[in-house]
Amino acid sequence: MAALLLTGGRVVDPANRLDAKMDVLISGGKITAVGADAAKQASRDVERMDVSDLIVCPGLIDLHVHLRDPGQTTKENIATGTAAAARGGFTSIVCMPNTVPAIDNAGTVALIHERAAQNGVVNVFVAGAITKNIAGEELASIGSLKRAGVVAITDDGHCVQNNELMRRALEYAKMFDLPVMDHCQDYSLVTDGVMHEGYWNTVLGLRGWPSAGEEMIVARNILLAELTGARVHCQHLSAAGSVALLREAKKRGVPISGEACPHHFTLTDAAVAGSEKFWAEDGKALNLQPSTFNLPEWPAYDTNFKMNPPLRTARDREAVLEGLADGTIEILCSDHAPHCDYEKEVEFDYAPFGIIGLETELALSLMQLYHGKRLSLPDLIAKYTINPARLLNLPKGTLAVGADADVTVFDPDREWVFERAGTASKSANSPFFGWKLKGRAVATIVGGKKLWTEQKELVTA
Ligand SMILES: [Zn+2]
Repeated sequence: MAALLLTGGRVVDPANRLDAKMDVLISGGKITAVGADAAKQASRDVERMDVSDLIVCPGLIDLHVHLRDPGQTTKENIATGTAAAARGGFTSIVCMPNTVPAIDNAGTVALIHERAAQNGVVNVFVAGAITKNIAGEELASIGSLKRAGVVAITDDGHCVQNNELMRRALEYAKMFDLPVMDHCQDYSLVTDGVMHEGYWNTVLGLRGWPSAGEEMIVARNILLAELTGARVHCQHLSAAGSVALLREAKKRGVPISGEACPHHFTLTDAAVAGSEKFWAEDGKALNLQPSTFNLPEWPAYDTNFKMNPPLRTARDREAVLEGLADGTIEILCSDHAPHCDYEKEVEFDYAPFGIIGLETELALSLMQLYHGKRLSLPDLIAKYTINPARLLNLPKGTLAVGADADVTVFDPDREWVFERAGTASKSANSPFFGWKLKGRAVATIVGGKKLWTEQKELVTA
């Protein structure tokens, strides 16, 4: 593989506390030099890529992605899902086990590793199920999942309701040094809720999904993490109360962590009532300059605003942003959840939960956290690199010499409009089409190979 020299970029590598203008040399699929040595060590025929005025950081990691492979490949497959990841600037993703069949045994893990090696363009790590068939009744063979190479276990999409079973899952996971990731949803409280329980679901006549339904399980997980000493990671936090619980528990040293998704800290439940209602109130807080373009429009009951957990109030959105800003929530991710048009084009009650997110999450995070002056660039990048790598013990998320040459180059100020036609995903269930976004990946490099570059002219021989 040819050597590649990235010249003149601002290198931001939180794992090594680097933030300075310097060069990066890649050869043999590894990072071989960073800083003044890079140009010196480069051979004369090295391929040079001028990345001045751009950010160069460790390849971004999304630890919450639904690839829908095997079994639901009309929604997405490993080739299209990883292509979407590459376009979004992601070099590693963790796929969720709620496939058909579920990833609850070593054979299915091996199948995904094989398909990812054949058809995937970015690194695919696998999360195994906590329970057999994600049914919440009987533990999966956690030891054999670990031996097959899973990096975590989760019943995502579902939530283990039986606390004793969850306790045993944590005890096994601890023995095998696996973190347990949890989709926090108390079924008895949430019942068949489809959107946040509050003002708007009453106005719209939709069944409510109360914040307490999430907070109850976050509290349960904190207690069980404390009891067992196992590492528990709360997925896609949406409610203010969850953030407060996590903050308090972390202060006490409980081995608990959390993640947030851009839709929860950008949108609110008012969006389900249509764009007019959203822009008139909660949308004002977003940093979009409507003078230069038309604000996106959508009707009430648009099912691309239906996700699980649901969009919540402006107060919850603010609490999630504060949790990200003060370090309570250490990880950013998409919960990329593709669904076919025909599945989403039904009444709100009947539509499946979830939206795609791999291609918009970097921009939305930059807009709300960096341009919104809540997080520095290094702190934001850490939540997409070294923090998820540490949680899952991945040998990724760093530009240290000798590390795999997974590198993301992005422009935090690039303005662009997210178009339906331009997505690499097989599905198009995004609420953000037509949005003018700020910040975009320009090049995605995996194992030293340039997978995708936004501007071909950037690449010079
Ligand atoms: Zn989930």
